[in-house]
Amino acid sequence: MLRSLDPLPDEALSGYLLRLSHRLRITPATLVKRTGLGIDTTADSKVYRISMHYLFALEPECEEPFARATRLSPAEVQGLLLAPLGRRYGPLNPRFLKSAEPSRVIRNNSWVLSEKVRYCPQCLAGDGSEIEALHGGAWRRLWRLPVTFACVRHRQLLRDRCPDCGGLVHAGDAKSMLARLNDDALHPTQCRSTPSSTAKDRSVRPACGADLTAAEGGELRSLSPQTRRTIYTTQERLTSLLADDGPEQIGSVGWAVPVAQYFMDLKAVTSLIFMTWPEARPHAATPTLAQALDAEAQRRHEDFAQQRAAGKRGPAARAYVVPSADPLAAAAVFEMADRFLRSSDENAASALLGPLAEEARYAHQPVSYTIRRAQGTSIPLQIVLLTHRRNARSGENVTTLIERNEGLARWPTSQNRLAK
Ligand SMILES: [Zn+2]
Ligand SMILES: [Zn+2]
Repeated sequence: MLRSLDPLPDEALSGYLLRLSHRLRITPATLVKRTGLGIDTTADSKVYRISMHYLFALEPECEEPFARATRLSPAEVQGLLLAPLGRRYGPLNPRFLKSAEPSRVIRNNSWVLSEKVRYCPQCLAGDGSEIEALHGGAWRRLWRLPVTFACVRHRQLLRDRCPDCGGLVHAGDAKSMLARLNDDALHPTQCRSTPSSTAKDRSVRPACGADLTAAEGGELRSLSPQTRRTIYTTQERLTSLLADDGPEQIGSVGWAVPVAQYFMDLKAVTSLIFMTWPEARPHAATPTLAQALDAEAQRRHEDFAQQRAAGKRGPAARAYVVPSADPLAAAAVFEMADRFLRSSDENAASALLGPLAEEARYAHQPVSYTIRRAQGTSIPLQIVLLTHRRNARSGENVTTLIERNEGLARWPTSQNRLAK
């Protein structure tokens, strides 16, 4: 029986495995085996791997032995997993996805950060308590969601790569939830990346090992007070929607939708903003945020053109759908999309989103349709994005088309202000 360790608030399974193995002075691989989770090796049998999908959920036959070995309650085990976040975050909720199979929720889902985990150096450094001083702070679950781009507590943007080697800090190149599972020398807050060297054999190369708690947080001091305020306000609002005690419903284009679905709407609108950039440029909250989106959109347009040239429609859409890796661009596009969705009603939303929908259709009809009618988005948003001038001739407008659907309720504008 293992000595246990209490999970920290919002701690992800990956970080918990690192902290517990550090406490027990065993390799993460040994811990993984003792807790009954599956572990396999790469084709050359040199590198251990643990499946990414455990981040989301443990199969029933794994969950009970894991709870027994770690002496955690079922609720504590659930608290380490991403699946419960799906109640409020659509991209983790099988109800809004194509596949309900747990092992597939994470795979190919760019709206969950499986490899490119983000972190706040100061949160990782711990809160000063003895246990966090020894094993570091929590690698938080919310850092796995691309809608988390800043640490409001420490007033900085999150980082996503190692400041020393530029590599992925957690996952290796072997599609494993954690890299270097057999390395017993790394602290939970050290970079687990293996920088390339002359040694061909990955298993004997040294780790980067940079102390991530010493990393500078994302630079914010050079930004104007208004830009900083915009970043924090947006992060606070999105985080409040994800909180356990957050609202069940929220307004999207003037209609009440489950919060989880709101994030599907947010995903569609950010994709549309990127696809049609610079169409929405006049709506940027500040000049700095507009510039961040200029650079981001430019990269995406180039990627899209390349994929199209290669004749790949699916990957071409992904050029606009994947969330922003740059925290500043993420803040910029989420602020704008969130503001569009908070329009008082469908007509106000149409005035903002209609031009983008038209522009997208003009740019590339099939890809624009994929985005405008994206899986899991709300009916009112779909109608706003799919209705164009032609409908007006038949006397159908956005309002009549939405009202034709049963079970939809208007979202009072007064609540919009409260939920800010
Ligand atoms: Zn922090
Ligand atoms: Zn590194």
